[in-house]
Amino acid sequence: MTGVLLRADAVLTAHDGELLHDAGVLIAAGRIVAVGPVAELARRAVRVIDAGGVLMPGMVDAHSHLRGMPLTAQGIDPAPLEAWICALSAMTALPTRDDVLVATGDLLQTGVTTVQGMLHTFADAAEYAQLCADAADGAVASGIRAVLITGFTDRAERAPEPAEGAWALPEPVTHALDVDDFVRLDVGAPHPRISWGTGPVAAQWAGDHALAAIRDAAGDRRIHTHLHESPLQRTWLRGLPAPIDRLDAAGLLGERTSAAHAVHLTDAELRRVRDSGAALVHCPVSNRDLRVGSARVARWRRLGIPAALGIDSQGDGAPDMFDVMREALHTASVLGEPLEPADVLAMATTGGAAAVGDPRLGRLVPGAPADIVGLNLPAAADLAAQIDTIVAHGSRADVRHVWVDGRAVVLEWLAVADVKGARARLTTELDRDTAARAARLRALRPIVDAVTALAAVDS
Ligand SMILES: [Zn+2]
Repeated sequence: MTGVLLRADAVLTAHDGELLHDAGVLIAAGRIVAVGPVAELARRAVRVIDAGGVLMPGMVDAHSHLRGMPLTAQGIDPAPLEAWICALSAMTALPTRDDVLVATGDLLQTGVTTVQGMLHTFADAAEYAQLCADAADGAVASGIRAVLITGFTDRAERAPEPAEGAWALPEPVTHALDVDDFVRLDVGAPHPRISWGTGPVAAQWAGDHALAAIRDAAGDRRIHTHLHESPLQRTWLRGLPAPIDRLDAAGLLGERTSAAHAVHLTDAELRRVRDSGAALVHCPVSNRDLRVGSARVARWRRLGIPAALGIDSQGDGAPDMFDVMREALHTASVLGEPLEPADVLAMATTGGAAAVGDPRLGRLVPGAPADIVGLNLPAAADLAAQIDTIVAHGSRADVRHVWVDGRAVVLEWLAVADVKGARARLTTELDRDTAARAARLRALRPIVDAVTALAAVDS
């Protein structure tokens, strides 16, 4: 079979694969046809693209909120999780299509070719359906592969649980959507690069009836959720069943499930996760910035739990998956349970593939979708040295080309989609709302301070 040959100084087929020198990846109809020496593949190529540097599998951001602008641009700085969640109520609402186009365009430019994004709104069914359509539109426009998760809550999520009295929602936010409308939500027309999953945003923010209804309606779709992100998500329950118990009891912990954070699970709970077949998503930069503690990822891996990486739309600049890999290494070594560079590269590739339920991703092998990243990094002598170079020294500035489904989405460091216009519109929206947003943040201060004080007492 003939195709287009992407050639490079080296091809890294997988974290546990091979490093081939003066090699290439032959692609046709969106798939990888062959990987091997240029000398062998060139005669089968109708066209050769010289990518220079190193070709590697596209990476997976397995937990995102698809925010196009960093929250610091909204005046919301990193803070302990519970206080930070309160402050989110002050955010300027941004147009979804532009937000997702910019977010996913920025992810492509750090070598992320698949994203799992959590969508969520308190609005009614019609508005939620529009949000889904606009999010899919934005992802299609950037060219990324996406698993879009419709998230649901029917309890206060910006207050300690159980939410009572003074701990009601900071502003009169009502849930315009009940779970019966949610499970009937129309997510729009199918698309080859977009798949849909669902889940409670977190079990502690959804009632038992809602959890059961989501399970019944999920069918064979993927389930994604937040799970035991901070210690207070257990402490504030004061003896009531823990989120993982309720998730499990509802039948939402299983092979189709991936859960983000999982910072505060006991050994017995981790074994339950392992036995269920669920995957966990480590979000080390987010965990650090929101001061929730450090997930014991080496333990997850030793137990055989599929482990992925998530950027979680955190950070004060453009997302950098290489920074997230380094933070995972750093966090693990501080815990005294170190990870190797190949471990974090595995999490960013095949682990991510497991967390989104698409085992074809994360490896450059014949038959796999042609999701490929071309790095402007020097070829190394062998696989281990190449992984070291990528993990220790790589950054989004080294991502020179990216292909998704064999289609170029980043060429010579530039996104192929027109992201500039969308970014300008987001900036205009933020600027227009600056004074009103600051006033909303000021009005929230007493609640944020009270939650901060309570969190300090209970931590
Ligand atoms: Zn999250």
